[in-house]
Amino acid sequence: MEQTPVISARSLVKRYKDLTAVDGIHLNIMEGECFGFLGPNGAGKTTTMRMITCMSPVTEGELSVHGLSVQHSPREIKNMLGVVSQSDTLDPDLTVHQNLYAHSRYFNIPRSEAMHRIDEVLDFVHLSHKIKNTPDELSGGMRRRLLIARALLNKPKILVLDEPTTGLDPQSRHSVWDKLAVLKNEGITTLLTTHYMEEAAYLCDRLVVIDHGNILVQGTPSELVMEYVGNRVMEIHPPHNEKSTIVNSLRNNNVEFEDNGNSVSIYDTTDNFDAVNSITNGHSGNWRPANLEDLFLRLTGRALRDDS
Ligand code: ATP
Repeated sequence: MEQTPVISARSLVKRYKDLTAVDGIHLNIMEGECFGFLGPNGAGKTTTMRMITCMSPVTEGELSVHGLSVQHSPREIKNMLGVVSQSDTLDPDLTVHQNLYAHSRYFNIPRSEAMHRIDEVLDFVHLSHKIKNTPDELSGGMRRRLLIARALLNKPKILVLDEPTTGLDPQSRHSVWDKLAVLKNEGITTLLTTHYMEEAAYLCDRLVVIDHGNILVQGTPSELVMEYVGNRVMEIHPPHNEKSTIVNSLRNNNVEFEDNGNSVSIYDTTDNFDAVNSITNGHSGNWRPANLEDLFLRLTGRALRDDS
């Protein structure tokens, strides 16, 4: 039997005056999966999340969550969601406990039930010992875990996380990943934006790469890497005066590559190992396994987006 998507977008558009931030995307996100949104700065990821979480109106197209339209049933949809936004929205004047209690009021959770859930979510993110502290007295990693705890208070069916680990050290990042993995095992559907390719590879069952408001590709991380990059990658840094000869030779031999200016990335898509080694003779680097970052750069290029 075919599964019904938990989130479905059809020709979804968001315009801010004459800027089209999301340009007619189609999405089907299934129950229990962790679905990632990757894309350069300004690609339209947060805008898409904000429409899904009913925080920003849809300009055109259809968008539904558990069969409910975001235009017609925002209240019901918000009750099903736990949202961790990019910005830290904790109240600095309240303690950890008070922050969580204030949030429980939005969902009209009865006081005794709220108290129980606060204990539960703080225990889950290992912050029970900080219950009387204010957010300013927590580290960045603790604040992120607190935001996740807060998002879980209403027992959401879907967790929406906008860059949940930006700025965290590796220990804190892994701690957040562990928590998200536990929640996934419990069957929660997770939507995630991230600039960390390792995070997406680790957590996401499927993902989309978005650029300029359009979905460039979607699929599982490993399928996408295999399809668009191949097995292995080698970066070479030939002297300037030899680069064009090497590039021409790669092109003539139908080897997939990317000219990065000072370096060339060569993709092993068809076991072209020997051909490449002879072309780059003397300037070969080491082959390494292809990864999501290779895919991302192949699809979205290397130009900085903040400058545009
Ligand atoms: P980042 O990785 O930097 O968070 P993003 O992919 O989440 O980027 P969005 O925040 O969705 O990108 O922005 C998409 C585009 O919409 C950008 O060009 C941005 O400047 C624009 N934009 C976002 N919010 C608004 C707004 N409230 N008013 C006008 N333009 C906006």
